Amino acid sequence: MDSPKQKILVTGGAGYIGSHTVKLLQSIGKEVIVLDNLSAGHSNAINCQLIVGDLSDKKLLDKIFDDHEIDSVIHFANSIIVEESVLFPNRYFDNNVNNGRNLLDAMVSHKVTKLVYSSSAAIYGEPHYVPIDEEHPKKPVNPYGETKLVFEKILKWYHEAFGLSSISLRYFNACGGSTDARIGESHPVESHLIPKILQVAAKQQEVLKIFGNDYPTFDGTCVRDYIHVEDLATAHNLALHKLDSDQGVFAYNVGTGKGRSVNEIVNTCVEVTKRMIPIEYSPRRPGDPAVLVADPTKIQTELGFNPIYSDVETIIKTAWAWHQKLLVEKQREFETK
Ligand code: UDP
Repeated sequence: MDSPKQKILVTGGAGYIGSHTVKLLQSIGKEVIVLDNLSAGHSNAINCQLIVGDLSDKKLLDKIFDDHEIDSVIHFANSIIVEESVLFPNRYFDNNVNNGRNLLDAMVSHKVTKLVYSSSAAIYGEPHYVPIDEEHPKKPVNPYGETKLVFEKILKWYHEAFGLSSISLRYFNACGGSTDARIGESHPVESHLIPKILQVAAKQQEVLKIFGNDYPTFDGTCVRDYIHVEDLATAHNLALHKLDSDQGVFAYNVGTGKGRSVNEIVNTCVEVTKRMIPIEYSPRRPGDPAVLVADPTKIQTELGFNPIYSDVETIIKTAWAWHQKLLVEKQREFETK
């Protein structure tokens, strides 16, 4: 049984997946405290105690664990732009590995033993087979994926040495907005497919560039496993439950097991938004595998994970509702200036 006083510390909780997870945890009565440096997060995406700060600040981390009765931690606070990680691997190892270790050390010294970690399908690199199960070889093809893999390895050794239990959730393509349209995806630099398509639908961009139509897939465009952010949030809650009863180091893919092509996503966006979405086929983006689809059997059987919002239509409808809300807010901001 959880003690009512005990809190869940969520690092990066003001970010995209973090804020949806915070919202879900609060809706089921959990007490949550967020640590976020707001480099990519939004303070208005959450409605709980927010500590603005960075994981490089060891004193702050100690103070947080001293001041609060923390039961468990969900660690989202990572740098996530693949292209940037190629240009500045130092920054990615600093933030995703070194700063992450500060968090682990603070947990260990305060005897907090449960961590859910936001890992990524990027740890697998170029697929040797699909769907990808958790035993698939792990050979990241960029520094971003490498930092996620290194951190998973650190978690294994911290368990052996210090008894820290963890669950790494290896996300496939996170997408969509909250079903009440209150929060959604909003990155400082947008590189993800669905928000970029919706920018074209909203006439903020003229054309969607589709990176490659000569892949060995049924329509020539890349296939991905799109998982709704509210289903992803549920996966974190299921992981926390498991850590209440089981000790050890665990890892799960979080996906649906179904692949959708870029063209299919664009077509659904046209249907949902009823807007013109001009496309242009352009060269492949370096490092994009043709197909990335999860084998989600392990999380389904061991954690009872059952995505309910991850059909493409619901994903696009919720992403579009959020996108339109953002546009209205920006317009209001502009008018009051
Ligand atoms: N994509 C595209 N045009 C864009 C952005 C993405 O064709 O403007 C493609 C990309 O090549 C990949 C898929 O959409 O095949 C999903 O890309 P995203 O960046 O959303 O996620 P990733 O799979 O890279 O994590």
